[in-house]
Amino acid sequence: MAAKGAASSSNDYVEQLLLEMVAHMLSHEDFEALLTWMRDSAQRFFGHMDFVDEGGPRALAAMVARSAWNRMPLPGNHFKPRPVPTPGRNDSCPCNSGAKYKHCCAELPSFESFSADDIWTAVAIQLPAAQLRVAIETKRMPPIALAEAARRELLAAFCARAGSAEVAERPIARGWNRSLRSGSASSVLGPRSSARGAVGRLMDVDY
Ligand SMILES: [Zn+2]
Repeated sequence: MAAKGAASSSNDYVEQLLLEMVAHMLSHEDFEALLTWMRDSAQRFFGHMDFVDEGGPRALAAMVARSAWNRMPLPGNHFKPRPVPTPGRNDSCPCNSGAKYKHCCAELPSFESFSADDIWTAVAIQLPAAQLRVAIETKRMPPIALAEAARRELLAAFCARAGSAEVAERPIARGWNRSLRSGSASSVLGPRSSARGAVGRLMDVDY
């Protein structure tokens, strides 16, 4: 399998993929369910890319699923990941080609889809408000995701005061898109310590 052209296309599908994948993991917390859903969604997410064979989208979907899952902070696991091992060489391949792993996707170069910062930020955007506070209190949330959490709390407070829930989501998504593109928490937030201090003051949390 080979892919080209992804970088030149819009980033929107990447952001959409990350949000949908994290939403799935938050609601199911089940790797096999994620893998099945990703394979079923492969054409929608990766169909526009050029692959050398028709199984390419499914193979990429299976790799992205495992890579993202292994970094996903699971609410049911105190917001720690529960990584799955690399498939055994004689296992049937996770891409569902029907071949053994060693004859199929084991031959592909190793691949990392989203960083922990990306995934945590998508969690901070989508987690129900009640769970968001729990996630913050684990002190595992990286600064970039804390910024989103703080933004949500501030917006919720603002909207409650203004009597409007309407504007709450859009500014959050814009902030996240910017951070995902820059790929750097520090470019948005400055040094880690000052970000933590600011979030602690904003949210009345001992961070
Ligand atoms: Zn495969």
